[in-house]
Amino acid sequence: MIIAAITGPATGDAEAQIRASAPFASMFELRLDLVGDAGAEALLRHAGKPVVATCRPVWERGAFRGSERARLAILDAAACMGAQYVDLEWKIGRGPIRDFMRRHPATKVIVSRHLGPGELPRPGREYASLRRSGGAVLKLAFDARDACDNALAFEFLRLASRDRQKAVGIAMGEAGEASRILYRRFGGWATFAAPEGGPPSASGQVSARMLSRLFRADRLNGKTRIFGLVGNPVRYSLGVYLHNPLLEREGVNAVYCRFPVTDLDAFMAKLGNDASGLSITLPHKERMLRHVDLPDGAALAVGAVNTMVRRRGRWRGTNTDAAGALDAIEEVQPVRGKRMLVLGAGGAARAIVYEALRRRAVVMVANRTHERARRVARALGAEAVRLESVHEVDIIANATSVGMAPRIGETPVPSGAVLAAVAFDAVYTPSDTRFLREARAAGARTVSGLTMYMHQASMQFRLFVRKDPDMRLLRELLSEDASALSGNLS
Ligand code: NAP
Repeated sequence: MIIAAITGPATGDAEAQIRASAPFASMFELRLDLVGDAGAEALLRHAGKPVVATCRPVWERGAFRGSERARLAILDAAACMGAQYVDLEWKIGRGPIRDFMRRHPATKVIVSRHLGPGELPRPGREYASLRRSGGAVLKLAFDARDACDNALAFEFLRLASRDRQKAVGIAMGEAGEASRILYRRFGGWATFAAPEGGPPSASGQVSARMLSRLFRADRLNGKTRIFGLVGNPVRYSLGVYLHNPLLEREGVNAVYCRFPVTDLDAFMAKLGNDASGLSITLPHKERMLRHVDLPDGAALAVGAVNTMVRRRGRWRGTNTDAAGALDAIEEVQPVRGKRMLVLGAGGAARAIVYEALRRRAVVMVANRTHERARRVARALGAEAVRLESVHEVDIIANATSVGMAPRIGETPVPSGAVLAAVAFDAVYTPSDTRFLREARAAGARTVSGLTMYMHQASMQFRLFVRKDPDMRLLRELLSEDASALSGNLS
């Protein structure tokens, strides 16, 4: 169940948030500490769905500054006005919670506990103490420092679901996003969402629309397979906007989340066993290899994985950047026998050089730091060259990060310095770079990093779920840029 937290601050704002969130939420939480209690009755009437009344005090990270008596009086009034649920803080003690339950036998009480900044829960202990409160729903919230902390929320939910106890477990902050999406997968009762058109009530809250439409959070279940992107940062990645609609289109019971990970080893130890497949991005592509049981030739040659799938408890790893880039280039020009200049010597360059050689291109590598180009060339069997010494090739591929937003005015090669029939740029933000524009002006056919992204993502999808993605849908989704995608869905 998705509960949209209504935050106002004016009653009119709150009404608008209720209207806009209604298609995506089954319930509303009226944050009476944020919207005030003056319009509570009107809002309860306006809601048209069950309501949780919450009046969070400052000592529990809320905004209510009045006395405890005044606060409980507001919640008493909300219960009398027909709020189906009232949220009471575990910290007020068992006595006041039981008294409230006696005064309002028809109102269900959510007993909630919010740990202080930086404090991590011990799920077993927290669950046992919350359970003694007798609340109809038990809620635990804490700050996630890293994506692995989602595991603590999931452990809390697992314990509760074993007792058939309704529970909410939230790891707050960007690193805890998965806990807000995957609650049903671990037996949780509900998730709290940011309202449409209003501010979130807690850090890391995902909008009701995005939870419902993109992640299908309210339709997941105990059998849902978990896929996701491991990296740092992952906020601007396109993956969630592509994989989730593709999974939905194919009717696969799976979801794709973002995991902003600092400590990769801790993440794999705590959440690795819950995931069925992972995409890996910077800065973990190389280090992730140590967690792969069965790396394929591409992963070993490139020295990095960007895709992992778990089959019978063992992680297989590959690098779809390699074939993704070459499939993109070969949309306009088969590379066999062609002279190809690759600019760069990082992960993308290694992947492109490896796959271009496999497809029998004649590959040269040039890089700002020449020694790195020499190392890549030596390891893979290409030729290291200085950019100034090359004037004409069949294909030129930019695998540096030059031209990537925000430095969109830059290009890795001076205009007209290298003539090529085909120019490819791995950079995909923006999709049309200065490098590509200048190559086009000089008569080259151009291939963008977005086409590479599409091919590598479609390969990932196939590896994840053993089904072909709907390429028309994938192209449609990619025809909008990242910000438009996130803007449409969040
Ligand atoms: P990386 O490992 O950090 O390598 C960066 C490369 O760029 C290095 O060769 C570096 O040269 C060079 N470079 C950086 N700044 C430069 C400058 N000012 N002038 C000249 N060279 C410069 O990065 P990566 O993972 O290979 O990624 C490279 C690009 O590919 C990024 O834009 C990334 O977004 C893109 N990419 C796209 C896809 C896709 O699906 N389209 C997939 C993967 C990567 P030095 O060795 O001298 O530092």
